[in-house]
Amino acid sequence: MFFVEVILPLALAKTFTYQVSETEYHFIKKGMRLAVPFGKSKIYTAIALELHQNEPVLYQAKEIHQILDHEPIVTSIQIDHWFWIATYYMCSIGELYRGAMPSALLLESETVVTVQSSSFVNEMQLSDEEYLVFQALQQQSSLKINDIIAILNKKNVFPIIHKMIDKNILVLQEEISENYKPKLVRYVRLHPQYNSQDGLTALLEQLKNANKQKEIVLHYFQLNATEKKPIPIKKLVESAKVTTATVKALIDKAVFEEYYIQQDRIIYSGAVSSKSLKLSTSQQTAFDAIQNQFSQKEVCLLHGVTASGKTEIYIKWIEEYLVKGKQVLYLLPEIALTTQLVSRLRLHFGDKVAVFHSKYNNNERVEVWQQVLNNSGKAQIVIGARSALFLPFQELGGIIIDEEHEQTFKQTDPAPRYHARDAAIVLANFHKSKVLLGSATPSLETYYNAQTAKYGLVTLKERFGNGQMPVIELVDLKDKYFRKRMKGHFSDTLIEEISVALSLGEQVILFQNRRGFSPVIECMTCGHIPQCPQCDVSLTYHKFKNQLRCHYCGYAIGKPTNCHSCSSIDLTTKGFGTEQIELELLSLFPNAKCGRMDQDTTRGKYGFEKIIDSFKNQEIDILVGTQMLAKGLDFDNVSLVGIMNADNMLYHPDFRAFERSFQMMTQVAGRSGRAEKQGKVIIQTYNPLHNTIQQVTRNDFEGMYKEQLYDRQIYKYPPYYRLIKITLKHRDFDKLKEGAMWLYQVMSQSLFMPVLGPEEPAVNRIRNEYIRTIMIKIPQDKPIGGTKKMIQKVLNSFEAVAQYRAIKVSTNVDFY
Ligand code: ADP
Ligand code: ZN
Ligand code: ZN
Repeated sequence: MFFVEVILPLALAKTFTYQVSETEYHFIKKGMRLAVPFGKSKIYTAIALELHQNEPVLYQAKEIHQILDHEPIVTSIQIDHWFWIATYYMCSIGELYRGAMPSALLLESETVVTVQSSSFVNEMQLSDEEYLVFQALQQQSSLKINDIIAILNKKNVFPIIHKMIDKNILVLQEEISENYKPKLVRYVRLHPQYNSQDGLTALLEQLKNANKQKEIVLHYFQLNATEKKPIPIKKLVESAKVTTATVKALIDKAVFEEYYIQQDRIIYSGAVSSKSLKLSTSQQTAFDAIQNQFSQKEVCLLHGVTASGKTEIYIKWIEEYLVKGKQVLYLLPEIALTTQLVSRLRLHFGDKVAVFHSKYNNNERVEVWQQVLNNSGKAQIVIGARSALFLPFQELGGIIIDEEHEQTFKQTDPAPRYHARDAAIVLANFHKSKVLLGSATPSLETYYNAQTAKYGLVTLKERFGNGQMPVIELVDLKDKYFRKRMKGHFSDTLIEEISVALSLGEQVILFQNRRGFSPVIECMTCGHIPQCPQCDVSLTYHKFKNQLRCHYCGYAIGKPTNCHSCSSIDLTTKGFGTEQIELELLSLFPNAKCGRMDQDTTRGKYGFEKIIDSFKNQEIDILVGTQMLAKGLDFDNVSLVGIMNADNMLYHPDFRAFERSFQMMTQVAGRSGRAEKQGKVIIQTYNPLHNTIQQVTRNDFEGMYKEQLYDRQIYKYPPYYRLIKITLKHRDFDKLKEGAMWLYQVMSQSLFMPVLGPEEPAVNRIRNEYIRTIMIKIPQDKPIGGTKKMIQKVLNSFEAVAQYRAIKVSTNVDFY
């Protein structure tokens, strides 16, 4: 008998055995998809792992329904990589498979399809079965694959569905809310009826009394002839020196038609920039040093200050791989940044650049998947957020991870909870390729790896083109409040500097950390925020219990009535947000145009792009924003950056609070004075002497690193200890409490290392489920693999306890 071992897209730790015929046995290869039955009546898309002749002992192997591919669509390296991630991040192989693939490649009986509303379907060209499905979807807005199985009265319907998806007739109903909308560009084309010589003659005749309109049509032809690519309305308007209204009139007359293309999907057909990239002397030195490091190391960190021109160095690095016909993966922390980067890279590499991220629709993702699998020239460089890591690379030469310190590289929910940077380094290892990490403010772990010679290190200390680093001035809020020099949250110094910048026609960025909302108690007199004596983090205020609690060890005290430091009774719990600042700006600078960039304003359609664009086009004078501002945006007219309150970052209850504050402030400050002019940064704080703030002021990354590293050692944090967080959830408060305590006790008895908890997180109930967490700290000298196996064993025995079975458990490795 012949069998195939498969992975199912389910949270199951095991692989499964199915029976195949001898012919199928010889046809199937590792990495091909198979439609298989599972459970009572479900069908899933499985991936073939191995062919063998060992009959399973515990169950009767079912037969597969169908082979879905002619060639593997997943590579052997990918599967090895999945297994590595599943083991390291303690999740099931099924969760990896499910998370790594575009869902259009993973049809299952519960998948819901609908008709693609925007495409025209020629019913004559449909096969009988396609026609039946199409007809059924005229009656009903959507169908499950199971319904289609009933309609067609056959089991093997996946190929039909795949074909209809390819033909753009069907789409998967995406349950994920699309919170990212790529930028759309408006184009014009001539109505097809005028696209011939005769048509044109007729058209010009028709327009003979409308000179302006005739002019536009002629300009359109000129552009069309010289550029041979889609013509944006904006370009036509500029070239013909007319108004949009005139073009609009022609669209109304049906002479032109308008259409939209997503900006990062425009097929590049223009000439690649002929003047080849010229690196500055220091960029060239850095580049040579990187190459030198790579002769000995697999990973190299490029630590270059803001605006030092790291992107140009990446471009040069990519060139080397392209020449050798290799693929390059370029990971970014934020999807919203791709548009900027894509246009920069297309200038050099033309149509070799592809973009991939989870917010693309299914067809587009499958298209890029296929291109990468076929090693197509169209996707030699892939830009993407973390999920691009899962593409089926064939000849991966190098991986760039820009802004490697960014938290967004870590996936939190659902599993696989992987860190894209670390998983990329392992992927590169499988491919024998190199990884270039870049940041102005590297993460402590990465810098530690560079310092301990595990990674290469190259430093670039100056800005491109002799740009000066901004001047940083500290404003002491305690003093300002005392002398009544504050208007709302603005010091007189900040107000003065904003006025100066505005009067010079320069732009201003004001930064207010979103975490300003997190409930800590702050003394209005001296700025003191109570800390945990054991963990070196701020205590969080729990209104309900009227307590201050540590989220790491569970330490708790009643809410104090006066400040522990200066005895003042003037304590406040309020943070302040971007909205408030915007309001205050309105009254301070009634004539300035203000914009706000935070989660609320960027959520809507094109929200983020709109704000960035209008700021770039100088339609906004003062931009108030959160975290988003710190992520590698490039503006050239910003001469002032104000950080409204540095303290609420510093005292966030998190062992990385100081590191993150340094990164955030340095990155935001880096938006100031990028062009010729030296910029200015004002930091408002109650703690001008705080080490972290002093380090930001001196641009002293090394100092921050040394100090934090020391603390990490003392308080048992990474890189000296690896952390694993186990989260338990249940509707029943007492049951959860009891279960969490059981798990904690067994964990601490089985592991000879610090186990902390069980802790109630700040938000201790989500969607009616109570939450408890347990943290395990694995010291450097303990084997990681063995410890995880032990943890898994304890978790398995926990699940076997009948009364705790309903408690949901999730594991997050390196959760920080
Ligand atoms: P970073 O990523 O290090 O913050 P960027 O790569 O964004 O810096 O570069 C900062 C600015 O300097 C950009 O506007 C970029 O176009 C310009 N620049 C950098 N290197 C060069 C170069 N070699 N030639 C021309 N312009 C450059
Ligand atoms: Zn005080
Ligand atoms: Zn503590």
